[in-house]
Amino acid sequence: MPIADKMVKMVESASMIRKMFEEGIRMREKYGADNVFDFSLGNPDVPPPAVVKETLLNLINNEAISHGYMPNPGYPHVRQAVADYLNKEYDVGLTSDLVVMTAGAAGALNDVLRALMNPGEDILVPAPYFVGYNQYAFVVGANLKTVASQSDFHLDLDAIQAAITEKTRVMLINSPNNPTGIVYNKAELLGLGKVLDAASEKFGKRIYLISDEPYRKISYGVDVPSVFDVYPHTIVLTSYSKELSLAGERIGYLAIHPKAEDAAMIAGAAGVANTMMYVNAPALFQQVVGQLQGVSVDIGIYKRRRDMFCEGLQAAGYEFDVPEGAFYLFPKSPIEDDIKFAGILQENNILAVPGTAFGGPGHFRLSYAVPDKTITGSFDGFKKAFDSVK
Ligand code: PLP
Repeated sequence: MPIADKMVKMVESASMIRKMFEEGIRMREKYGADNVFDFSLGNPDVPPPAVVKETLLNLINNEAISHGYMPNPGYPHVRQAVADYLNKEYDVGLTSDLVVMTAGAAGALNDVLRALMNPGEDILVPAPYFVGYNQYAFVVGANLKTVASQSDFHLDLDAIQAAITEKTRVMLINSPNNPTGIVYNKAELLGLGKVLDAASEKFGKRIYLISDEPYRKISYGVDVPSVFDVYPHTIVLTSYSKELSLAGERIGYLAIHPKAEDAAMIAGAAGVANTMMYVNAPALFQQVVGQLQGVSVDIGIYKRRRDMFCEGLQAAGYEFDVPEGAFYLFPKSPIEDDIKFAGILQENNILAVPGTAFGGPGHFRLSYAVPDKTITGSFDGFKKAFDSVK
């Protein structure tokens, strides 16, 4: 094998996703773009707010713009802008040295896991979960250990408590969640904080909470509680990929609670981890987002699509809880085998990702980061697929 043995499995799972992407291209060529209903990707199609372009143009036309190297954790003034924003929102007392600018949320996850994980230690994650976590765990030689959530996808605190062992270093959560759209409430997060504190005490080893929050601003009339408030040993990370529709620009950050055990050391290690991958987050877009703290895309667009999609799918017979955040639906597959059902949807020109890919078998994921007409045009196909197995 010309590639490393340990890479073979990773390449296989990446090629499954690529296959779906290629399948979409093939189907569009064969049936015409208007007749293919592709809900497989969480790639925002809502344009960035106009102020993003204005800020970008102002920066480009300004002689003072910087293109050079910088401290690896990012421009000090941008880290300060992020710390000021988080302090205003959450009153957490962050200083800029506890903020590291990263290449998206993926860059932040890679940084913080490199900073914290020893090979062979466990990252605990509630299932279903975002597939990228497998890869981030792989690069640091850690085990991604999943814990089933409750049937409504809220945290199962008893199961989490039972899953923690002396090998657990990190609990990784994501709310609003990809793929389920669930938003964890304050009570369950406080409960989680207590479980992590007690387990850290029991095993004589600090367990850190990592909160992956790229969908924080995409919620529909519910509070997305601050994780900083529930457990001090927390690292929050996010990106501007979804909230400003800048996924391709690779910009995000991580922020460490000032009361986290060894906070400064973790920030230092995360900054060094940056140098192992991309040296520093993209300079131009650091300077853009530094000026746009608190700005987001029009969430009303996603809410309208969610409502439209839910109505159509319910009418066709599908079962699911209406998601409170992110831009995904995670309906039950009408047959047990979700991979088979994704195939049946595909026969009706609909592309969906089987829940099995996210550790949530018996479901399938639909992204509604797509134009309205893709949603409305798909309802006949969804109904036919449902009726064909009933
Ligand atoms: N975490 C979750 C839950 C995601 O859904 C994604 C992307 O879809 C990421 C992390 C990676 O985000 P980014 O593109 O900002 O690196």
